[in-house]
Amino acid sequence: MSSLDDLYRRVIMDHYQKPRNRGAFDDDAVTINMNNPTCGDRIQLQLKIEDGKVSDTRFTGEGCSISMSSASMMTEAIKGRKVDDALRIADLFSRMMKGEEVEDELEQEDLGDIEALQGVCKFPARIKCATLAWKAMQQGVREQSNHEEA
Ligand code: ZN
Repeated sequence: MSSLDDLYRRVIMDHYQKPRNRGAFDDDAVTINMNNPTCGDRIQLQLKIEDGKVSDTRFTGEGCSISMSSASMMTEAIKGRKVDDALRIADLFSRMMKGEEVEDELEQEDLGDIEALQGVCKFPARIKCATLAWKAMQQGVREQSNHEEA
């Protein structure tokens, strides 16, 4: 066990035990429910999108440490960012899950914690756990833009 793995595991457990942006809004927000039946993870993600920006986001749900810590990291990463940036980060994350080297890009975007999940790509059964919250976010953004066009 390398010390890097150890550090990453601690970052993941920290997000799992102290999730960021956990909860639900009282008022209107884009709401997406998604689950990962292979592991039993489920998430409800809420997004507030204003002027092309994710002004706020919250999530609730239950599942394994990978799914919940990824949701926590995802909300932290996209909050306050432009929708386009959030989608770019989601794309970066999905490339990381395919085993691509994206460390430099993560650093540029100042997404340090997300790096802790890169080891997940070696465990194909867990990739769906890690990407659940990100897929929910992408779907939420799509629903919001369809709504605006209608
Ligand atoms: Zn899971």
